Amino acid sequence: MNLHPIFEAAVPIMSRKQSESLGDRSQYIGSSDIAGCPRKTYLQRQFPIQPGVSTLLKFARGHAAEWLLSKIFDASEVPYDAQVEVCHPSVPLRAHVDFVFYEPHGLHAVEVKSVSGIPDAPFPQWTDQLQYQLGMLRMMYPKGSITGSVLAVDMNAGEVQQFNGFEHDDTVFNYLFHRGLHLLDVLNDQAEANCSPSHLCGFCQFRVDCPSMSLPKVELPPEIEMVAAKYAELNSSKTAAEKELKAIRQQLLDYTGSTFKGQTERLALTVSTVADSVTVDANLLKLQHPEIYQQVLKPKAGFSRLEVKPLRPSLAKAA
Ligand code: SF4
Repeated sequence: MNLHPIFEAAVPIMSRKQSESLGDRSQYIGSSDIAGCPRKTYLQRQFPIQPGVSTLLKFARGHAAEWLLSKIFDASEVPYDAQVEVCHPSVPLRAHVDFVFYEPHGLHAVEVKSVSGIPDAPFPQWTDQLQYQLGMLRMMYPKGSITGSVLAVDMNAGEVQQFNGFEHDDTVFNYLFHRGLHLLDVLNDQAEANCSPSHLCGFCQFRVDCPSMSLPKVELPPEIEMVAAKYAELNSSKTAAEKELKAIRQQLLDYTGSTFKGQTERLALTVSTVADSVTVDANLLKLQHPEIYQQVLKPKAGFSRLEVKPLRPSLAKAA
């Protein structure tokens, strides 16, 4: 039996059903829009593209992570609600909070991110999204504390990291709220969409003619262009190799567990455990003790950052 036609037909239907709780997203600005790039949001709404099955399956990972977490929270019997919608009373701005926990003195919002590899610190888009949600919750619940965290879940590695310690902040929310108003103006053709480059630009379908990505045209000596192309080629095989290494590493650890020693005719395999340790959370320190953060800063030497990206044909033509 060939299952591919089933995937092609059913994955878009499943994805639509999973997004039903968000309502008609063309009618409001959500927290991911506010934390993201205004130009991308604008173009996505003007020229909607149905994502392919592979992209939809990646989106589904987020729903799978939320489903799993809700089962865990159910088992804990801690009071919470999932997918809490908060609407602004006068403008079409909304927030959908993945989880809201009811604590004795207030609320704790959790934004879930399904990742492949947990970063050392939360990305700014994640914290912006969370801060916006905290501000919207503050409007709805003027009393009690409003705190939050980002929960990064790596389903493949079975790892969960909570980036905790966020609190509602009037100034930050005000900034994000105005980003939302800017987006509304853009969507009503009353303002030009700003670009907001981030690590997500690599996945943006509107990158080709994005003003923030355009570079001045130059003539490079042929030997330099050749070396730069080689650099880009090696760098992309390095990225692919790192991805493959990560998957293989997990496969090996699944077999060995956390401790193993042994050798075959061809190789020696050793797995040892590095004990848990503690480290200073610089973001939290900056947020909660800004005066101490300033005192412990030390100079860091700068360096030359080199980036070489091969251009896709259409971009090469446009340049
Ligand atoms: S490439 Fe980056 S800055 Fe440009 S539209 Fe896309 S997300 Fe925005």
